[in-house]
Amino acid sequence: KPIVAIVGRPNVGKSTLFNRIVGDRISIVEDEPSITRDRIYAEGEWLNNHFLLVDTGGIDLNSEKELKEDIRRQAEIAIDEADVILFMLDGRTGLQPMDREVANMLRKSGKPIILTVNKVDYKKLEEEIKYDFYELGLDDPVLISAEHGLNIGDLLDEVIIHFPQEEEIEYEDDIIRISVIGRPNVGKSSLVNQVLGKNRVIVSDIPGTTRDAIDTYFKLGDREFAIIDTAGMRRRGKVKPGIEKYSVIRSLGAIDRSDVVLMVLDATEGMTEQDKRVAGYAHEDGKAMVIVVNKWDLIEKGNDTNKRYAEDIRYDVGFLNYAPITFVSALTGQRVLEILEIVEYVAEQHSRRVKTNTLNNVLKEATSMFEPPSDKGKRLKIYYATQPRVKPPLFVLFVNDPDLMHFSYKRYLKNKIRDAFGFSGTPIKIIVRER
Ligand code: GDP
Repeated sequence: KPIVAIVGRPNVGKSTLFNRIVGDRISIVEDEPSITRDRIYAEGEWLNNHFLLVDTGGIDLNSEKELKEDIRRQAEIAIDEADVILFMLDGRTGLQPMDREVANMLRKSGKPIILTVNKVDYKKLEEEIKYDFYELGLDDPVLISAEHGLNIGDLLDEVIIHFPQEEEIEYEDDIIRISVIGRPNVGKSSLVNQVLGKNRVIVSDIPGTTRDAIDTYFKLGDREFAIIDTAGMRRRGKVKPGIEKYSVIRSLGAIDRSDVVLMVLDATEGMTEQDKRVAGYAHEDGKAMVIVVNKWDLIEKGNDTNKRYAEDIRYDVGFLNYAPITFVSALTGQRVLEILEIVEYVAEQHSRRVKTNTLNNVLKEATSMFEPPSDKGKRLKIYYATQPRVKPPLFVLFVNDPDLMHFSYKRYLKNKIRDAFGFSGTPIKIIVRER
């Protein structure tokens, strides 16, 4: 999906616009309340164009200096990762020095920039507002009011014009694409180097888009894998805490293009809020996942250390209950080679199709064990189910009235499907349709 990033000073209205564009969708798509809080990315849609909207701001910063650095960083990330940048300005306050600085960075990037002037509900003439921003040397601004929902459609018209055409390609091959995700210094590069080490044949002549060209393709036995390049991995150097929130954005594109996400944690630190956000995205995006706890050599082990560590993670991120957890050390090489076996296994589960017959038997048994919900004397009736899609497995249930389906009952059915078929390592989705 194309990535659209909103960049701008604090208080220009970035999150208001963000919510305006994706607000309704979040509540529709979402079945994991724990992921919803404090999100900085969400899927948006306009005239059948799907995109990922990212709000790059939102950290509370104290000093002027921090603020400046923060905005510069936002712009940098947007330039690296976004397909379209919404550069947001405040029509009330007019142009501020920091706006000019950001405009300079953005102009040099060559990326499509949409100058968006917010809060135009204020008593100022349109021409007057536009005049304020001409000196930035960018295109004519789109005047909006995020709060009052003014001209948002015009803005989105402008956004989708710039979407790249090749984005919607679906890979038709059997290559297992892996994204390696995690905070700086957890050991991602070390692990990748180990995995790409001995016995693997690096394949170099894979045709595809320019993006594919920076990925690393290799073979193990008959199996072909690719490690998706992540900007966060290429760019070395210290990342400040707080600012590191943005490395999330660097991961989204890579996750999109992958089948399996390797979520790498530092054993001495565990799973952070940051990690949960990224994991939440991968989950919603329907990617298979393996949780890799690295630097296991640094942990003092007693009885059941692995087991207890795993339980803590399960407790912390309940929605990832399907993801295998493995404990490795990129330093000593411990269990590193097994990672690919696990990846191969979850990739198979991710693209697994079950027999319609068996599926319907499982559901029949589930509904007889625990009756479907009812409302005002009308009970949900599930006529039959199919699995029209894989990656991730998607189940469509045909019912008498979709409104009768309850979140908790859907979860119950998901668990029953898992009990019957496994689907280890992959999320599964259920859609309810009226027959
Ligand atoms: P990245 O930023 O996630 O790519 O992390 P790096 O691969 O650059 O590793 C960060 C630091 O952690 C380096 O100093 C590595 O040598 C060290 N490191 C990586 N894996 C391990 C491990 O399994 N055990 C220990 N003790 N150190 C590790």
